[in-house]
Amino acid sequence: MTPSRRRLVGGLDLGGTKIQAVVLDGRRSVVAQARHPTPRKGGPDDILDALAATLAEACAEAGVETRELVGVGVGSPGVIDSRRGVVTGARNLPGKGAPIRMIAGLRKLSGVRAYLENDVTVGVMAEHALGAARGSNSLLGVWWGTGVGGGIVLNGKPWEGRGAAAELGHVVVKVGGARCTCGRRGCLEAYAGRGAMEIRARHLHRRGHKTELFKIMEKRGRERLQSGVWARALEQGDQMAIDLVDRAVEALGAGVASALNLLDVETVVIGGGLGTRLGDPYVERIREAIMPHLFADERPPAVRLVALGDLGGAMGAALLVPPSRPDRGSGAPRAPRRPARK
Ligand SMILES: [Zn+2]
Repeated sequence: MTPSRRRLVGGLDLGGTKIQAVVLDGRRSVVAQARHPTPRKGGPDDILDALAATLAEACAEAGVETRELVGVGVGSPGVIDSRRGVVTGARNLPGKGAPIRMIAGLRKLSGVRAYLENDVTVGVMAEHALGAARGSNSLLGVWWGTGVGGGIVLNGKPWEGRGAAAELGHVVVKVGGARCTCGRRGCLEAYAGRGAMEIRARHLHRRGHKTELFKIMEKRGRERLQSGVWARALEQGDQMAIDLVDRAVEALGAGVASALNLLDVETVVIGGGLGTRLGDPYVERIREAIMPHLFADERPPAVRLVALGDLGGAMGAALLVPPSRPDRGSGAPRAPRRPARK
């Protein structure tokens, strides 16, 4: 094994629709990647199997065995217990929020030391370290995808509260409003989450409202309204898609402005599947939707699109792995004896 090979680290981004794996070298450059769909049925074991398989594919592309990695970081939705390495309450995944023993499971399946963190937090950390928010002392990440995730960096460090901070999607934008996937009412995610937008589109379609959304979905061989389907429908001027995206942008404006009134950060970074796919024109629209609700509107924060794209989450997860010690002689690298990173 060459010395450079020894410093390879893995990153896994577990999303509602896909699992993205990367392998980074010592300079934090991506040397290999793989992507698999997230299982739609089953439970925690199926998720762990899919994570291990995606990581193995990326490692094969990098020409290493998974167990040769210094470690692997995992970004996951749900409530994170990084000490025990367990995820709970990830409702957008199969198993309906049943505990996923992430660190123990990956150790067993892949023979690699794993580190666990919230998916949006690692995506925001990557944008802070390597992407659109480089140099910002404080930032709010807005992950517009299946749900609406948030990530907060204050004084250069991620802020996670007691493990469930930055749940931007469950900021209330309308008291007594639409039902959210969390069971509560009026959450931002109930208007702007792609999952909620799809439920609304299906409801309207059943009641006879015209739309090309489902035809585009079928033509693409999809079962769900993924971000590319929404983007295509918008390009075609589909009125239902336009109305539902307008509604989402308006809700994002109110929710993000409420978070800004509380935190007053320097930079807002817009990412997530839908945010990334719709890109700069919609980042500008979200910025405009924030302004009417912003208390300190004479000095608004910068609002930017993510710079690392689809790989940001997995790259941020890889940054969780502590740097390896310099090579000393031959033999397999020893696993660090430190406890799991908080
Ligand atoms: Zn909610």
